[in-house]
Amino acid sequence: MASARAVHRGAGPKGSTERCYDDRPGVGEPVDQRTKYVFVTGGVVSSLGKGITTSSVGALLRARGYRVTAVKIDPYINVDAGTMRPYEHGEVFVTDDGAETDLDIGTYERFLDVDLGRGNNITTGQVYQAVIQKERQGAYLSQTVQVIPHVTDEIKARIYEVGEAAHAEIVLVEVGGTVGDIESLPFLEAIRQMRFEVGRDRSLYLHVTLLPYLGSSEEYKTKPTQHSVAALRGYGIQPDGLVVRSKTPVPDESRRKIALFTNVEGDAVFSAYDADHVYAVPEMLEQQGLPRLLERHLGLERVTPELRVWQDAVRVLRQPEERVSIGVVGKYVAMPDAYLSLMEALKHAGIANRAQVDIDWVSAEAVADGDVDQLAAFDGVLVPGGFGVRGIEGKVLAARFAREQRVPYLGICLGMQVAVIEFARHVAGLEAANSTEFDPYTPHPVVDLMPEQLEVEGMGGTMRLGSWPMSVQPGTRLADVYAVRLEHGGGTGTGAGGTVHERHRHRYEVNPRYVARLRDAGLVVSGVTPGMSGRGEGLVEAVELSDHPYFVAVQSHPEFTSRLMRPSPPFTGFIRAAVALRRARAQAVAS
Ligand code: GLN
Repeated sequence: MASARAVHRGAGPKGSTERCYDDRPGVGEPVDQRTKYVFVTGGVVSSLGKGITTSSVGALLRARGYRVTAVKIDPYINVDAGTMRPYEHGEVFVTDDGAETDLDIGTYERFLDVDLGRGNNITTGQVYQAVIQKERQGAYLSQTVQVIPHVTDEIKARIYEVGEAAHAEIVLVEVGGTVGDIESLPFLEAIRQMRFEVGRDRSLYLHVTLLPYLGSSEEYKTKPTQHSVAALRGYGIQPDGLVVRSKTPVPDESRRKIALFTNVEGDAVFSAYDADHVYAVPEMLEQQGLPRLLERHLGLERVTPELRVWQDAVRVLRQPEERVSIGVVGKYVAMPDAYLSLMEALKHAGIANRAQVDIDWVSAEAVADGDVDQLAAFDGVLVPGGFGVRGIEGKVLAARFAREQRVPYLGICLGMQVAVIEFARHVAGLEAANSTEFDPYTPHPVVDLMPEQLEVEGMGGTMRLGSWPMSVQPGTRLADVYAVRLEHGGGTGTGAGGTVHERHRHRYEVNPRYVARLRDAGLVVSGVTPGMSGRGEGLVEAVELSDHPYFVAVQSHPEFTSRLMRPSPPFTGFIRAAVALRRARAQAVAS
């Protein structure tokens, strides 16, 4: 068996957040007899929104109370996404169990409202690593090790294991890449075999394609879809349903034509036309009856879905009561996908405040080059996570601007480290303070490598990763914003403090040797790792300023656990403060 492990929480019926292993009848039966599989493939071009389609199908199933998990297959040879450049590949998403995954895992978590884990992102690298390791250990003694059956068996075992670990009723499997790519072949072969193994009524193939519109002849062109289905059929897979991406709803005539040429029934061709908001996609597919196809084909009961969260969110996004503009000072400003979870967390927090959040990407290098004044246009400044020295001084200046101008500030990971550097330099009098990541010879290493990182060799999966506890100090702003979670987790209401968990991805920390100096100068340490030293004080997990409308910075990445249904507290507080500033400014102008 594969060594993949899937952590799967919060997948109880109808949005319950409890572990779901035993809460439905029949869990004692062998899971593999009941689990159903929905395979999603993509054709014609990449970046079609397969992830959103898969997630929306999941959301529609979850809205019906099904226990669902999702697997993303990435046909690249990297073992995980952790070593890839966010600028090319988008954000590296981090799960509770510390896996560094493709950003689609984050989309699944947000749409399905479940916590996924290492096993949910399968890559070619992992599969071959496992097969080669087994071969060296003698697991295939005397055999010739081949793509079929050894590699395909390993892929199937991993998919089955994810479903079993999650006790899932339905497993969504999204095959990355485009049909026809050389590298996705073993995966297509594996999912072809899976239908053979589990049967037709327990497996459904959904193919996502593009319907281009030709301006010159003013019509939608179905040929690319026809070709892509033909290619898929060449691998032995006849899709049961098609999701067709297009600019506007697909006209009936094109739908009929597609059905005729692809052997897919007309009512199994769905139109995923450009939406004003991604949260509108589940409802769009619901309206067209996509769940009917799943019910019919997989023998699922007909259940009335609970889609209120999605409908409410879309309503707020279409008719917000407030509007704020947030400046995100980062490095990858030309590639918003590099900060996908962050944008989503801001959106969730906006919706919770009935506000539209306009995100402006500010180049940290431009700020460093002197363009600090542009920050005056924002109702809040956010410095997100990041690595490397490029743009650092701009981020330090952004933190300084927010502190001095009393503009709401949210610092995430690196955003907390630069806030501490800024405070050390300009308030605590520690001239030239820095992180040793950026200046190994700084006289005041207020941010330094964590001791356990000194021994680390190699680059994959070696940071401090995954979910770690944070002890929130009573009476702080942080305790205030986390009150909602603390009430469920042992704290006793507003401001009382307690322990929360957030996901991490970092190598550096605030240097414990400087904590007392920084505190004496007025920095509030509002979150620490529980009980890591004799003084009951561990790593600095969060800092804030007391004499400021909202200056909160955390070492973790709370954006990874933000959900539409449960927005992240530090983000909600940040947007609330930004709304207040916006109102105050409007009032000042009016009077
Ligand atoms: N580069 C910093 C560190 O490794 C911050 C990491 C981050 O922002 N994710 O600690």
